[in-house]
Amino acid sequence: MNYHTLIIGSGLAGITLVRELRKIDKEREITVVTADDGAFYSKPGLSNAFAANKRPEEMVLMTAGRLASDLDIRVMANTVVTEINARQRTIKGSHGVLAYDQLVLAVGASQIPLSLVGEGVKDVLSINSLADYARLRTGLQGKRSVAIIGAGLIGCEFANDLRLGGFDVDVYDQLENPMGRLLPPVAAKRLRNRLEAIGVGFHLETRLESICRDGERQIVVDSQARWRPYDLVISAIGVRPNLALARTATVATGVGIVTDPFLRTSDPHIYALGDCVELDGIFLPYVMPIMKGAMKLATTLCGRPEPVIYPAMPIVLKTPACPTVVSPPPAGRLGHWDIQIAEDGLRALYLDHASGEPTGFVLQDKCTRERVALAAMMPAIRLK
Ligand SMILES: Cc1cc2nc3c(=O)[nH]c(=O)nc-3n(C[C@H](O)[C@H](O)[C@H](O)COP(=O)(O)OP(=O)(O)OC[C@H]3O[C@@H](n4cnc5c(N)ncnc54)[C@H](O)[C@@H]3O)c2cc1C
Repeated sequence: MNYHTLIIGSGLAGITLVRELRKIDKEREITVVTADDGAFYSKPGLSNAFAANKRPEEMVLMTAGRLASDLDIRVMANTVVTEINARQRTIKGSHGVLAYDQLVLAVGASQIPLSLVGEGVKDVLSINSLADYARLRTGLQGKRSVAIIGAGLIGCEFANDLRLGGFDVDVYDQLENPMGRLLPPVAAKRLRNRLEAIGVGFHLETRLESICRDGERQIVVDSQARWRPYDLVISAIGVRPNLALARTATVATGVGIVTDPFLRTSDPHIYALGDCVELDGIFLPYVMPIMKGAMKLATTLCGRPEPVIYPAMPIVLKTPACPTVVSPPPAGRLGHWDIQIAEDGLRALYLDHASGEPTGFVLQDKCTRERVALAAMMPAIRLK
């Protein structure tokens, strides 16, 4: 039988899945419906593109037309899907109605809205797409000072990149350290010191309350009524899965679209992949889970169900001021960090209290070369 596989979303998840499907099945009908223009680009590249002076159009790896012809698929770009009728197996949107045999939701995640008050809030930028990056470049023209809200992975990467691009950059966070949720304090402080050494300012343990306007400038105000003016404010406080569409199909959702290890949702004909997924209570908005998931999902969609297995998936920070790799220990596993600092950098192993075995690691500077060898020693993420 020639199935019609319909994929909503043309990000890394949607397009990687198409590629994996085509390795197995050259014949099946595949349609990708996407709200954006369908151009394929590397999203991780957005947070180190500014210093390299990359124009948005230079970041496009393949246009929608090229994807369609090379992969022999139909791409419906600039098409927002608003509703899924799971009983009739159709989707509805700005294109009209389309039928499917298998539906894959690869709809990604969106920036968490800021809970701040003030007339400057609406002008805060977040960068989660190529179009956002284009807005950032336009917004920074002729400007000098930037505030970044959030000192997590994306905030630190943009801080490093924009500083290298010649901007005055301040980073705000409520936590005591940058990357405070992923790095042990010693590693986080090294990252902070290196970013400070290139001129990034940190305002940590700082709770922001409002963003006001003074003409062209945005005034960032904290809970102690301290304030500073900036030309531009960026929010990097994290993303949350896009759930609205899945809910129209009454597919189970929690933090994300809930799937089993086969990436199947509570509806047997609907699957999910990428930043929109919650698998076994885990939300992993990173590249590696998409690559691992796409391979298995393609096999499953072709009639040979295979569960996803997530090995340890180290995250590489694009902070040249302090090269850092982190492989977070599984949530809920008790242990402690064993940290060594030598000439070649920092090496930290998270040792499990019960077994004494390493279950996570952090590497900095030249030690980052050990990431592949160390990742191979880490336990796979256990999925029910
Ligand atoms: C700046 C930045 C840097 C990053 N750096 C790293 C890194 O170094 N390492 C790493 O592992 N990860 C990194 N990530 C995360 C990584 O990029 C993401 O995990 C990945 O790109 C998500 O891909 P996706 O396809 O799931 O979602 P997306 O790329 O968000 O794609 C979602 C797609 O769904 C479409 N869509 C949504 N709703 C609808 C609808 N209703 N109708 C039609 N279409 C719809 C959108 O148009 C889009 O095409 C970074 C993310 C950002 C923002």
